[in-house]
Amino acid sequence: MRLKQPLITWKSSGKANSLRILGVNPWIYDFAAYNVWSRPAGLLTCLDMFARSGCDTALIDLMDQDLSDLKWTDHKKTGKGPYPKVALPKPFVLKDVPRQFSRYGLPRQRAVEAFSELDPKPDLILVTSLMTYWYAGIISVIGMIREIMPGVKVCLGGIYATLCTDHARGLDADMVVSGPLERPDNWLRVWELMGKKSPPLPEHAGMIPDTSYYQEPDFSILMCSRGCPFKCPYCASSMLYPGFRQSDPDIVIAHIKAEYERGTRDFCFYDDALLVNPENLLYPVLNFIIEHNYNLRLHAPNALHIKYLTPRICTLLKQAGLSTIRLGLETTDFKNRRDAKLLFEEWRDGIFNLLQAGFVRRDIVVYVLTGLPGQTEEEVEATLRECLKMGIRPELNYYSPIPGTPLFKKAVEVSGYALDEPLFQNNSIWPCVQGGFSWETQKCWKKKIRNPQ
Ligand code: SF4
Repeated sequence: MRLKQPLITWKSSGKANSLRILGVNPWIYDFAAYNVWSRPAGLLTCLDMFARSGCDTALIDLMDQDLSDLKWTDHKKTGKGPYPKVALPKPFVLKDVPRQFSRYGLPRQRAVEAFSELDPKPDLILVTSLMTYWYAGIISVIGMIREIMPGVKVCLGGIYATLCTDHARGLDADMVVSGPLERPDNWLRVWELMGKKSPPLPEHAGMIPDTSYYQEPDFSILMCSRGCPFKCPYCASSMLYPGFRQSDPDIVIAHIKAEYERGTRDFCFYDDALLVNPENLLYPVLNFIIEHNYNLRLHAPNALHIKYLTPRICTLLKQAGLSTIRLGLETTDFKNRRDAKLLFEEWRDGIFNLLQAGFVRRDIVVYVLTGLPGQTEEEVEATLRECLKMGIRPELNYYSPIPGTPLFKKAVEVSGYALDEPLFQNNSIWPCVQGGFSWETQKCWKKKIRNPQ
C-alpha cells in the first residue's frame, strides 16, 4: 500500500508561471554501500538557490526511504542503516573482482513511478553525482529521464562532474557543471540552458541545504562550512570547494529549530573542517542546543580535526550531545606523515581532552588510512596497535585515488589498474594494493584490528 499520494509534490515559489526545477539524487552502483546519514547536500543547496530565485522546486532522492512504501528493513532509528540492493552483473572491466556488484537504493519500478507521476513536468532537471566510480547510476537515471520526460533539459553537477568533467561530458546530459553552482559562471550557464537571464545569486548561496523535501526524515544534516583550510595530498576537498567558508550561525540555528519542531533528533555534520574558527560558528550553535535542552544526537562521521579538540570544544560537544565521533588520525607515523594536519602532541592532547570532557574510549573511533601507494603493512599495523593500546577503536579507511590530487600521480605509477577510468578509482577494489581486493586479506585485517600482535 502506498503511503503518500502523489509521490512528489512541487514546492511552490508562490509566483505564477515559475520555472520548475527538479533535483535528482541517483542510485549507487558499487560492491558495497551503507547509509551513514547520507543526503545529497550540494544538490539541496542548489534547490535552495533556485527556490529563493523564484522557481518551483522538487526532489527525487533515489537513496532515501522517503519514496518507499515501507521503512527500509533494519533502518535504525537514528537514520543510519543498510540500503536495499539488487544484485547486478559486474561491469566487464571489474569482472575479476571477487565481490558482488549491486544497485543500491529505491527499487527501479518505484523510481519509474515517481518520475512518471510528476505533474507538471520540470523545465530543468539537476542530477547530482558523488563518487567518481558511481557514474553507472547516473547513466541509468539519465536514461530513465530521457525515456519518461523526453525533451526536458538535464544538467549534471556534483563531485564526479567536478573531478572527472571530461568523462562526465560523455554521458547524456545537456550540460555538465564543474564546481559549485554558486560560482557566477556556473549560475549564468544554467539559466542560459533554460533560455533565461540569470537573476542575482541569493544571499548565502551555497550554504543552505534545504531538507524540507524529506517528509518523514529520521535525521537531518548540518552544514556549518564548506571547504577545508588543509590540503592533504590524498584528498579532493580543495578541488571541490576552493577556500574555506563558514556559514552564519543564525542560519544553522534556524535550521536546527525548524527540524526539531517537526520531530528530528538526529543531526549529522557535513563539514570537512567543523572545528576550525569555532568562535564564528560552532560555539554559538552548540550553546544554542545546550541552552534549549534539545537533547539531540549529533553525529560527526566526517573526520574531525584532532588538533582542534581543545578542552572547551570537547566540553561543548559533549554537552550538546555528540554521539558519533570519528577522528582523522590516518597514521601514527608522525615523522613521515603525508599530510601536515597533526603532531604527536596534538593527538595525545586531543584524546585526553575528549576523555576529560566525559567521552568514553570505546565511543572514540579513529580513521586509519590504508591502501595508499607505497604504504607498508607495518605502518598500518603500528597505527592499529597504538590505537588499541590507548583503548580507542581504529577503523580502516581504504584509499581511493582521486584525479587531480597530488598523490594521484604516484597512485597511477603503482596501481595495476588504468586509474583514469573512474571505475578503477573505487576503494572497494583496493586499487593501489598489490593483487587488489581479497577476502582472505580483509579477514586478516579484521583480525588485526581486534589484535594486531
Ligand atoms: S583535513 Fe580532511 S578534509 Fe581537509 S584536506 Fe585533509 S583530509 Fe581533506
